[in-house]
Amino acid sequence: MPKKAKRKRGLLVVISGPSGVGKSTVVRRLFKIYPGLEMSISSTTRTPRPGEEHGHHYFFITQEEFDLRVKQGQFLEWAKVHGSYYGTPRKFIEEELGKGEVVVLEVDVQGAASIKRFVEEGKLKASAVFIFLIPPSVDILAFRLKKRKTEDEDVVNYRLRAAIAELQVMEKYDYIVVNDKVESASEKIKAIINVEKERTLLN
Ligand code: ADP
Ligand code: 5GP
Repeated sequence: MPKKAKRKRGLLVVISGPSGVGKSTVVRRLFKIYPGLEMSISSTTRTPRPGEEHGHHYFFITQEEFDLRVKQGQFLEWAKVHGSYYGTPRKFIEEELGKGEVVVLEVDVQGAASIKRFVEEGKLKASAVFIFLIPPSVDILAFRLKKRKTEDEDVVNYRLRAAIAELQVMEKYDYIVVNDKVESASEKIKAIINVEKERTLLN
């Protein structure tokens, strides 16, 4: 019987999509139904929303600390999103991918584009799959942004306009998943990860 093939490098699962589409909600559900995934926790200068915990949802840091980490090259990519700064931890991701783990990243469209470039240029030794989450309709997206009740109306309207523009980039992604129901969207992502794990064994 042939020896079981072993993945030589990890798999980076990049989940992106407009603000309010349900990325955090779907990713939370994905971790419940798919044990063993590694979640990358970003740093941000944004203030925590009620219920958000430092080191769990994000590392909430000051602008000075963020700038220092940028200077030290601690972020694989970083971006200004809706007025706050967000950065993806380089060391954690490189270490986990080096161990052959599946690392899930939730980033905005700029972050996804940067990571795609790194992978294509061979700067990141990993297989990567890019998943774009879309709302069932723009009206539903507007409703979800308002429902979250964490931003005031101006911010919601601004994010909605940005979201409509962001939807234009979806053809650059490997998969587009409609977030109709949290359960079915997370099941679809689980299926994508399983397929990609098999496919990348050949790499
Ligand atoms: P994002 O991380 O993309 O900004 P969130 O996960 O914060 O979005 O979701 C925005 C709002 O929409 C939240 O109130 C969340 O509970 C709700 N939501 C997310 N997915 C769904 C869904 N499939 N059906 C209904 N409401 C949803
Ligand atoms: P929120 O403030 O709603 O948590 O996130 C705002 C946006 O920033 C979301 O689209 C989220 O995916 C994105 N984001 C979170 N962390 C990072 C990161 O490290 N890099 C980039 N580029 N975007 C991020």
